[in-house]
Amino acid sequence: MSFNLDYYESKMVCNFCRKSYTTYKVRPGRFKVKGQDMDFMPIYEGVNPLLYEVAVCPHCGYAYHKSMTRTYGPFLSLAGESYINKLQKVMNLCRERTIDEAVASYQMAYLVAKASMEEELVLANFALKIAWLYRLKQDRMSEKRYLQSARDLFNKSRAANKESEEKIQYLVAEISLRLGDLAEAKRGFSRLLTGREISNKYRNFARKRWEEYKYQHQEAAENNINFL
Ligand SMILES: [Zn+2]
Repeated sequence: MSFNLDYYESKMVCNFCRKSYTTYKVRPGRFKVKGQDMDFMPIYEGVNPLLYEVAVCPHCGYAYHKSMTRTYGPFLSLAGESYINKLQKVMNLCRERTIDEAVASYQMAYLVAKASMEEELVLANFALKIAWLYRLKQDRMSEKRYLQSARDLFNKSRAANKESEEKIQYLVAEISLRLGDLAEAKRGFSRLLTGREISNKYRNFARKRWEEYKYQHQEAAENNINFL
């Protein structure tokens, strides 16, 4: 097996079983951020670090992402009872991953997070990232399924501050647009466009996105093709 210059091995100690392992992370310099989609999916050139965000313990199956906070004491007991102890076999996802393996890593992080009663916002972001991975695969059906669950979870999420509250509102509108739920998208964008307290950042995102949509929609109508 040849040494792979794209990755380095990150040392981990599993929160659950306390054993050590190493897992691949993309070396800085092996990817570049080229831009982002309107739902904040980063577009990378080179190796995609999104595939390596979740560390999965090869000994017990506990999955860890940096957004998780309930990673100690009673929360770990809950994760053990309702997820880890029931696993029949543990996958090894510590080296180079396919998109499907990356999806599996986020699904495991989702299950651990759900079992350890993490905030809905943590779960919502996992669902959104799974949708992004399916977008990379051009699997539209699976992308939509996960966008749908991301939207449900964002709707149930409690924001920690005003910035996060606006981001959630924006994402719900943006995801609605992607799902073809125009009524909900319009409601969300117009709340961001007309709300008195809304920051310029999200007002501008909403304006850009809604105008872009209307422009494409108009053009599609003129060319008599179906948009969305
Ligand atoms: Zn472990």
